[in-house]
Amino acid sequence: MTSCADRSRWAVSRSTATSERHVAARRERRVRPDDRPVTVVLRTRTELRAALAEAPRPIGLVPTMGWLHDGHRALIDKARAEDATVVVTIFVNPRQFNAAADYTKYPRDEARDLAIIAAAGADIVWAPPFDEVYPPGFDTAVAVGAVARPLEGAARPGHFDGVATVVAILFSLVGADRAYFGQKDAQQVMVIRQMARDLAIGTTVVACPTIREPDGLAFSSRNVHLSPGERAAAPVIRHALVAARDAYLAGERAGDALRATMRQVLATEPLADVDYVSVADGVTLAELQAVDRVGLASLAVRIGATRLIDNEILDRT
Ligand code: AMP
Repeated sequence: MTSCADRSRWAVSRSTATSERHVAARRERRVRPDDRPVTVVLRTRTELRAALAEAPRPIGLVPTMGWLHDGHRALIDKARAEDATVVVTIFVNPRQFNAAADYTKYPRDEARDLAIIAAAGADIVWAPPFDEVYPPGFDTAVAVGAVARPLEGAARPGHFDGVATVVAILFSLVGADRAYFGQKDAQQVMVIRQMARDLAIGTTVVACPTIREPDGLAFSSRNVHLSPGERAAAPVIRHALVAARDAYLAGERAGDALRATMRQVLATEPLADVDYVSVADGVTLAELQAVDRVGLASLAVRIGATRLIDNEILDRT
């Protein structure tokens, strides 16, 4: 790990490498963790642009809000396997929070995050202050249409405008070939794909599988807020989705029946307060009467004061 002052070491070590040679060299390095590449930490747009001007392609981008866990780590690993340069961003984006309190209490520990990112072998961390993302006078919002409206869009008004706006800025600044997002936030992936397509941004959006704790709870930065009792209750979220998936695989196609299955499982846990359960079209996110195409079972549940989301694709293949 180095500060941005040490950036020259990074630049020198890569200035003559072709992309292909670089990827091959990186693959070799992955089995020699003591010889990890230097990870530089940058704060400003100017520093980021300068570093990227010299960076070998393809460039992979992993946007995060920090408080990294194994889900983030899997995204970085995927980028590391596919791209010559890996950029991880850490920015807790106030525009995507509905409640100020949720933003304020969002967990933050940059030193811990940087250690995880360095161990994962990313090349660049961009961890900007607010003004580097939203400079004074910033006055634009990106609003994605239909796919951003139901589910999280309905439950958290303005949330996806904040997400689409900050990701559009990151895509524009980094000019990545690929960007990696978690399937845990399935609607977010769809919103970002729509945004990138509509704004003609040439970054390919890669969706990566949800990484879970051994008991099935999806890793989430918010899990840290769960008390021991709440943590013990939280896997009910996964149980509800597995029940819907199993019913679907056993032949159940009625949307109402699948939604009822999830509600029944959630009702067994007194600490679970259901925000929504959904069985929707996997492309449009319109609620389905019958799952006669690829579907997405998803839910949002409060366990105590902590709101958690998860989902499962319903597909026969
Ligand atoms: P966040 O820091 O919560 O904004 O998440 C950053 C990225 O990590 C997003 O693309 C998330 O979808 C992804 N992510 C969060 N949790 C998981 C998980 N359990 N498995 C895979 N990806 C995840």
